[in-house]
Formats: sequence, structure tokens, C-alpha cells
Amino acid sequence: MPFDINKIREDFPILHRTVEGAPLVYLDNAATSQTPRCVVDNISRMYYEHKANVHRGVHTLSQEATDLMEEARRKVKCFINATSTEEIIFTRGTTEGINLVASSFGDSLCNGDEIIVTVMEHHSNIVPWQLLQRNRRIVLRVIPIDANGDLMLDAYEDLFTDNTRFVALTHVSNVLGTVNPVKEMIAIAHRHGVPVLIDGAQAVAHRPVDVTDLDADFYAFSAHKMYGPVGVGILYGKRRFLENLPPYQGGGEMIGQVSFEKTTFADLPYKFEAGTPDYVGIAAMTAAIDYINGIGLDNIAAHEQELLKAATSRLMEIPGMKIFGTSAGKEGVISFLVDGIHHYDMGMLLDKMGVAVRTGHHCAQPLMHTLGIEGTVRASFAAYNTMEEVERFTAAVARAAAMFHK
Ligand SMILES: *Cc1c(COP(=O)(O)O)cnc(C)c1O
Repeated sequence: MPFDINKIREDFPILHRTVEGAPLVYLDNAATSQTPRCVVDNISRMYYEHKANVHRGVHTLSQEATDLMEEARRKVKCFINATSTEEIIFTRGTTEGINLVASSFGDSLCNGDEIIVTVMEHHSNIVPWQLLQRNRRIVLRVIPIDANGDLMLDAYEDLFTDNTRFVALTHVSNVLGTVNPVKEMIAIAHRHGVPVLIDGAQAVAHRPVDVTDLDADFYAFSAHKMYGPVGVGILYGKRRFLENLPPYQGGGEMIGQVSFEKTTFADLPYKFEAGTPDYVGIAAMTAAIDYINGIGLDNIAAHEQELLKAATSRLMEIPGMKIFGTSAGKEGVISFLVDGIHHYDMGMLLDKMGVAVRTGHHCAQPLMHTLGIEGTVRASFAAYNTMEEVERFTAAVARAAAMFHK
């Protein structure tokens, strides 16, 4: 199937609007991707034609809504090559997925237990583990990075002790673009008998992910970063872990029998889905996954690599440019600073030229601390970005830099 960028752009009405009188160049895809018409239409159709609460009703609408939600679960299962739909839990996002595991798995942890994370984690894969420290002494051990932004695997191996209970790491850095060797790192953890959670928020929209091949024990991601709706996330977990973990939240949908003396819990995956889920957004996941599959993740990856290469070499021509994250095979994320220009000022100037980038610490303050900076400007690519946009973005950065340095 040919990669037709014009046709792809037609699917995203928002890409045709202007900002400050200039055509929008949207390069904040690592924060959230835009949503194609087919996904928005799917949401409207759900509200107009099928809205009813799921799993409870005998009536037709409820059956339809339930079927659409379970169809989405099957889609997700295939998308990441899980073994069974029972291993696919719908959440509100990556953050909730990680909190679920930290809370439920964390229940079994004791004083002195250790969890390994990396220095490049998003706050949502740091803070949930720290919350466990409220009522026990849990030690976070941190894998460092080298000058390119690659994890130091020797140091990783050395972090394992008899007290290591869990490893939680990101598949792809939202700041550096580094693609971590998660399959190898999972294998190392498993040799020590330690389960692993992968934060896949920055991976699933940019490369094929196969949780079975990776042998990941948990894998969390968000729909809104993969052309899907806001407010829906997915937590994959291996059945043998999910079966043994206590529920995260209590409420409707997640129970077997309730009495004031004793409550039994529903089977997987419902045990972890308390309350009314966002069945509208979840159903729309089907359209988002179909959309990605229609273009092909290999095509998307190849396209984003071309944009990354062109943008990087253009930016490097700008005097005073420093790019953070130079790992070989990195993803389409560029964090940078220009000497003497605050990241916030650069972001403001780019916005005046219609270019949307992220500025700040990107929810990765420990990484910023390690890099010795407060924040960066970050441009991140998606399937719909074009070479022309790369030109406009890099020319805008050059112009902003010249304004400051004259
Ligand atoms: C965006 C992001 C998250 C958080 O995702 P939410 O959708 O806000 O829950 C976690 N980890 C990484 C690497 C991210 O990029």
C-alpha cells in the first residue's frame, strides 16, 4: 500500500487550520496526536446510535454497546499480539495503567524491596512507585544513560540484588527519542526472576509492538497518542499476574457476588475495570487501530525517520544548537536548546509562526536534572507531518535564533 501523505492529511481537519495567521505546523505529537475523521465519526455514531451502558443490560442498545467495546478489545489484542482478550484491561491512560500495577503489585512489597527504573522515565512511571513508600520502605534504583542518551546496560545488570522485585521502564523516551532494548532488558530481568512493566506510551503509534515476542509482563499505553480518543488507555498484563493481583478499584462491573460480609470479584479482565468504562472512547479505538493498520506501522516508521533525519541535519546548521538525545535508531522526537535562548521563549516565537512544539521538562524532571538543564524545546513527528513542515519548522527556529542573537 503506497504512503499517500496528502490523503492522510485530508483525514485530519485540524491540520488545515491556521495559527497566528500561518498554516498550523503541529509538532507536539509526543504530547498528543491529532485524531482522524474516522475516529471522530465513530464517536459521534456511538452517541447517536448505540449509547447505552455496557455489560448490564438485556436490551438491544446495551448489547450493541457491549459488542462494540469487546470488538475494540479484540482489536487491541491483535494490535499488540497478546494471547487473550482477558489480558487487555481498559484504563484511562498510561498513567492509570501504571498506577494500577504499582498499587496492586505493590500490595505484596515489603520494607527494603527494590524497584528498578530508568533515569529517562516520565513522571507517571516514577511517582506511582514512590507512592508505595508511604507505608513501606521501597528503594528505587535507577539505570543511568550515556552521552547519547542510551541506557547503560552493564549498570542495569549491576542493579539487581536479592531484594529486586520489579523493573519498570519506558519503551521509548518522550524526551530523547531513545528506543530502549526492552526485549533484551526483559530477558535480563527474567533471568533474575523479576517481572517487568513497559511504558509504551511513545512506542505503539510509531513501531510494531508485539508483547508476546517482547515477553513483557505488563505493557501500558494511551489511545490519545495513537490517533485515538482522549481518556482511554490500555494495560496489557500476563494472565498469571493479573489473576493473582488484587483489584485496583472497587465498584460496579468488577464483582462476582457482593454482600456486606464478603465480595468476590469478576473474572479477567473485568476484575480491573470498576465502574462504567469510557465505552464510547473504547469503541472508537477500533477505528484508530484500523486507521494505523491501514497506513501500516512500517510505513509510518519509515516516514517519521525521514522527517527526523531532515530536521536534525537542518537544525544542526543553526549556530548554538544543542540536541539532547543522539541514540542510533532513535524515534522521531527532537529535544533541543539554542545557546542563550530560554526554551519557553523559543516555543513562544515558534507559535507566532504557526509551529506548535512542546517546551519545558516534559514530565521528566529527573532526566532534566541529569542533563543539567531545566527544560528543552521538543518537536515530535507523526504520520501526517510533511517535509515542507520540517522546512517551515527549522526555518522558524533559525529565524527565532537570529532574532535573539542579532
Ligand atoms: C504521555 C506519556 C505518559 C502518560 O500518558 P497519559 O496519557 O498522560 O497517561 C507516560 N509515559 C510516557 C513515556 C509518555 O510519553
